[in-house]
Amino acid sequence: MLLTPHTLVGIAVASVIKNPAIAFPVSIGMHYLGDLVPHWDFFSNTNEEERVSGWRPLAVAGELSLAVAAGTASVLYALWLANDPALAFRMLICGIGGVIPDLLSGLTMYLKNMNGFMKINNQIQSKLQFQAPLPWGILTQVLVSFFSVLVILGSTAR
Ligand SMILES: [Zn+2]
Repeated sequence: MLLTPHTLVGIAVASVIKNPAIAFPVSIGMHYLGDLVPHWDFFSNTNEEERVSGWRPLAVAGELSLAVAAGTASVLYALWLANDPALAFRMLICGIGGVIPDLLSGLTMYLKNMNGFMKINNQIQSKLQFQAPLPWGILTQVLVSFFSVLVILGSTAR
């Protein structure tokens, strides 16, 4: 799944679970569940070589900026509109938690040596990816993102 919906799911977890020590690991776990949603991303049906060359790394970097923007907007929303610094903190760590598995996998594409945890993460990720063709593979992610925003607003707006 793309990084922006993963981030929004993590932030939705932060909105619902008040204890950061629970919310953070749950946000990481939700990443793996998110990848079970049929989706299309820049690495769909590609080999290792295609993933690190051509336009794909640029597209990933561009989409990462969108995810960071969504995360930043959420933290500012928590601080200024919801007036809840604890929520802002949870959104920050859970927004990052929601993409940690992909950040690790992304790193391993450029690393020669992986540690055990990175290998396990990559194996789980490649098993759980559920691909869907365009445009459906994007539509599912728009729905996940939309639902996440509803959860965020529904549980934090005053
Ligand atoms: Zn993933």
